Amino acid sequence: MDYPGNLFVVAAPSGAGKSSLVKALLAQDAQLQLSISHTTRAPRGQEQHGREYFFASAAEFDAMVATDAFVEWAHVHGQRYGTAKQAIEARIAQGADVLLEIDYQGAQQVRQTFPNAALIFILPPSWDELRARLQGRGEDSPEVIALRLSNARTEMAQAPHFDFVIINNSFDRAVQELSTIVHAQRLRYAAQRRAKAATFAALDIP
Ligand code: 5GP
Repeated sequence: MDYPGNLFVVAAPSGAGKSSLVKALLAQDAQLQLSISHTTRAPRGQEQHGREYFFASAAEFDAMVATDAFVEWAHVHGQRYGTAKQAIEARIAQGADVLLEIDYQGAQQVRQTFPNAALIFILPPSWDELRARLQGRGEDSPEVIALRLSNARTEMAQAPHFDFVIINNSFDRAVQELSTIVHAQRLRYAAQRRAKAATFAALDIP
């Protein structure tokens, strides 16, 4: 499927710093829009419906699956998460760049529908650092943290299936690297050809 906008998928085990990195990237890149996912999990802390997620009941989520409303969806940490087609298709068709912050299972599903999507995996610098970050954010119970750590091993084993890898050791450097990937993707021949069609035509490039 060809579309004028660029699609970026960012995955990581929880605690790798994915959300903070994506937030910093979005703050410095006005061309990039975040896809808001649906989830069956309950809101945490200050999270708001329609801002961090669309919080859905199991029945609402079932109905969306049944009507083929998702580009991808997956079970993650005992809950369901999905990207609605509505969250991305119209936007990339109009030329916007859209970023999906989703898990590795969803990332591979997105690749099947959108082969040009850039898949980026974020790794923590070490197990100790990952554990410290999960404990430090103080949002989850010890049981949830233990589940997330055991899932992290499985998740990180999927890194080879991604196009790019960032090791989030220094935050600023990781944001810079993320930004570099986004810019490089925009400079790919096909992306430039779509974005700068008039220039190509003026240069007589078919
Ligand atoms: P959290 O509950 O901590 O916000 O997210 C848990 C995990 O679900 C994270 O790895 C997050 O990236 C993933 N996730 C969030 N939205 C989606 C989605 O739409 N699809 C998939 N497959 N995973 C998602």
